[in-house]
Amino acid sequence: MHLMNPQPDQAASSEQPSPASTDGHRALLDRHSSVLSRIAAGARACGRNADAIDLLAVSKTFDAEAVLTLATHGQRRFAESYLQEALPKMATCHDQWAIRPSGRSADDRLEWHFIGPIQSNKTRPIAEHFDWVESIEREKIALRLSEQRPAHLAPLQVCIQVNVSGEASKSGCSPDEAVLLARSVCAMPRMRLRGVMAIPAPSDAFAVQRAQFAAVRAVFERIRAEGFDIDTLSMGMSADLEAAICEGATLVRVGSALFGAR
Ligand SMILES: *Cc1c(COP(=O)(O)O)cnc(C)c1O
Repeated sequence: MHLMNPQPDQAASSEQPSPASTDGHRALLDRHSSVLSRIAAGARACGRNADAIDLLAVSKTFDAEAVLTLATHGQRRFAESYLQEALPKMATCHDQWAIRPSGRSADDRLEWHFIGPIQSNKTRPIAEHFDWVESIEREKIALRLSEQRPAHLAPLQVCIQVNVSGEASKSGCSPDEAVLLARSVCAMPRMRLRGVMAIPAPSDAFAVQRAQFAAVRAVFERIRAEGFDIDTLSMGMSADLEAAICEGATLVRVGSALFGAR
């Protein structure tokens, strides 16, 4: 992996965007601020504390420079859906973030979530490179991830992906399957169950959005009622984050409203 020479003056100059990209950087930071404002307003509208809701920046199809721009603006949690694209991007971000001079502590690192479909021949690099996997929908995949999680890393933080839209969605397991899968994941040594994730079928109607998120929340509550200590309700994207927040989302996954259209 190519590391830039970490000389102070060189590192400092890498902090300055080139004139050509300054507008792009500013637009990105403006969109980041407006998404954070939407989260705060959404929380206020339903009487929740905005501190209980975190933003996961979905950087799929966008480059390392966009990630680093948001990181410089305080964003730490990023998500990717396509492994091939994610691995080199994550390596670049890791190297560049390590040399950016802003007086950070050594444990101030970027956190990466895998949120895409997982084929069984791709589990090893996912287990080796990601902090979280939110798209767990099969026991076989979960077992492989647990077996392949390197011993020197923290357990993989995971969410079960739930399908509350029936035929309208191909990803995620049914609510009943999700509860069973949660039990078996909790018994896997290198996995730490954190909650559930869902991508409901899109709808323009706020009431329909809310009803679907309420169904996701019900699965979360069922798993918690079994005594599992979970804290993450990952739901809400660019088009429907307000409805998700009303139904208790703790993590909203936002791509296009932050980075632009894909
Ligand atoms: C792409 C993606 C998102 C972000 O969607 P936007 O509509 O761009 O905000 C969120 N979650 C998952 C699982 C995704 O694949």
